[in-house]
Amino acid sequence: MRLTTEETARAARFFAEGIHRLASRPVRLMEVCGTHTVSIFRAGIRQLLPPTVELVSGPGCPVCVTPNEYLDTAIAYSRCSDIIITTFGDMLKVPGSDSSLMAEKAKGADIRIVYSPLESLTIARENPNKKIVFLAVGFETTAPTAAATVLQAEQQGITNFFVLSAHKLVPPALKAILAEPKTKVDGFLLPGHTVTISGLEPYYFVTQEHAIPAVVTGFEALDILQGVYLLLEQISTGKAELVNQYRRVVKPEGNPAARRILDKVYQPDNAVWRGFGVIAGSGLALTAVYQRFDAKAALPLGKVESREPAGCRCGEVLRGLIMPADCPHFGLSCTPEQPVGACMVSVEGACAAWYKYGQGRWSYA
Ligand code: SF4
Repeated sequence: MRLTTEETARAARFFAEGIHRLASRPVRLMEVCGTHTVSIFRAGIRQLLPPTVELVSGPGCPVCVTPNEYLDTAIAYSRCSDIIITTFGDMLKVPGSDSSLMAEKAKGADIRIVYSPLESLTIARENPNKKIVFLAVGFETTAPTAAATVLQAEQQGITNFFVLSAHKLVPPALKAILAEPKTKVDGFLLPGHTVTISGLEPYYFVTQEHAIPAVVTGFEALDILQGVYLLLEQISTGKAELVNQYRRVVKPEGNPAARRILDKVYQPDNAVWRGFGVIAGSGLALTAVYQRFDAKAALPLGKVESREPAGCRCGEVLRGLIMPADCPHFGLSCTPEQPVGACMVSVEGACAAWYKYGQGRWSYA
């Protein structure tokens, strides 16, 4: 049921007043998802909150958490004359160790932006003498489509399509955050879209093992205000429960059909996250049955040397240890036009959001 403008305004006022009433002590809430970070800024939610409520961004921007090692491998593939790279657009500008996909494209590499991994199969059919490497980056939300593409490639007998998988799972990253002694989080706004696929079950450890409240939250301004309100309501009464604010989209069991496709093609694997290093079981690798679609196995490259950008503190931003403005590059040597690190590139990146919408709060003046 859609609310009228007047009903939305009334509900927003109710939640905002409730937040102010409940925020009697300083609390630090993590919005795990980059889409939440952007919505929070766009809607001016930070300005609505009392100073006792601090919102900190988490590792929920897929491009940001993809390490340079992956980008450098993609760049190395793009330099091969018999390879076409297919990728979502936001990967293009991310700086690797000494280049970016955009720079390689400008030099003549065949890199094509796709809006769905399925487009890679059309490109594969149209270019039988080339090998198509799809850069599979994203969380639980995007991985099922990549898995469905592998299944279609198999059904259609396409042999020149490969996947360079950097898919990641959110719950193991939250475990890594909660294991970090320096991180202090009093509550989590959980990403509604990934829970749409996984269901609630993988997130119960947050409330049951760590006694930290968590709210699965949608992406409208009112959703986020309600999410913050529901967290504060729990914190003020000493509760730690997993609450589903986004019930109009998220079912407790998630999407079993999408998970079946995912489980058929991928299996959990250790994965490297920018700023975290290896997180056990946090990635998705192709299962043995679909190994022939694995770019790394089918198209070996040899050792690719990688290094993170000097002075970039993206890793600490992603772990919720510092705010973007704490990085000395922020807004000076690192801007969306001239990004130093991945967090300034993606529209979902915390540094990019703070730069674009920070409204002077990041100013060094
Ligand atoms: S401002 Fe730039 S250099 Fe600093 S942490 Fe963010 S992306 Fe990295």
